Amino acid sequence: MKVELIAITADAEELIELAARTCYQSGDKTAAGGAGKFLGRLIASGHESPFEHAYATFRLSGCSRAMTHQLVRHRLLAVSQKSQRYVTEGNFEYVVPPSIGNGFADEFKADMEAIRAMYRKWKERGLKNEDARYVLPNACASELVISGNFREFRHIFKVRCSPRAQWEIRQACDRMLLLLHARAPSVFGDLMGLIADPG
Ligand SMILES: Cc1cc2nc3c(=O)[nH]c(=O)nc-3n(C[C@H](O)[C@H](O)[C@H](O)COP(=O)(O)OP(=O)(O)OC[C@H]3O[C@@H](n4cnc5c(N)ncnc54)[C@H](O)[C@@H]3O)c2cc1C
Repeated sequence: MKVELIAITADAEELIELAARTCYQSGDKTAAGGAGKFLGRLIASGHESPFEHAYATFRLSGCSRAMTHQLVRHRLLAVSQKSQRYVTEGNFEYVVPPSIGNGFADEFKADMEAIRAMYRKWKERGLKNEDARYVLPNACASELVISGNFREFRHIFKVRCSPRAQWEIRQACDRMLLLLHARAPSVFGDLMGLIADPG
């Protein structure tokens, strides 16, 4: 899976501070050393709406439809996903769950090849992509671009970087969290302990 940060609000932390200080009319207290302490207090008090002023956009590719189905449940994200109506899947790529292990990798590969053959058979019989796709597996690789505000990303990371989350969405969200933390450490720093493998 590839996870790329392709756009982010410029000076995001400063923008959030400026917005939040409007509530208190305390713009004159903006600290020269950065917005860190102030943003930390917003998080601690649950005053999270100012974090909606900053946005990020990611491209995720080489991830399974099993994973993307979970991700797109987050309703505050804007999503554009590779279509299985407009794009033919005769040679679809797929994601192999690590639990399959090396011992069964060949068998899994053969199953995927059998499904490719099934898909092609139905296409040859005249089915459109939109109907031939009914035989495709959840392992089928997909690509999507998602955009969301920082408050929504904080929510997503809390539930999807958790050990209770499924491994692939956790991996995707861990990587997004790392990328956002590098650009806005005061907004995402308190969540870094959730990351399974920070290295
Ligand atoms: C470990 C785990 C297991 C899961 N298992 C299942 C499962 O078995 N079956 C299943 O169907 N789903 C499952 N889900 C998906 C889950 O129920 C949510 O649909 C998904 O996580 C989206 O989260 P959300 O609704 O909190 O947030 P978002 O859609 O990202 O919205 C963010 C927040 O905005 C608020 N919000 C958004 N829309 C509304 C609304 N209409 N009304 C009120 N408040 C709103 C809520 O506070 C919400 O938390 C699972 C999720 C997790 C993390």
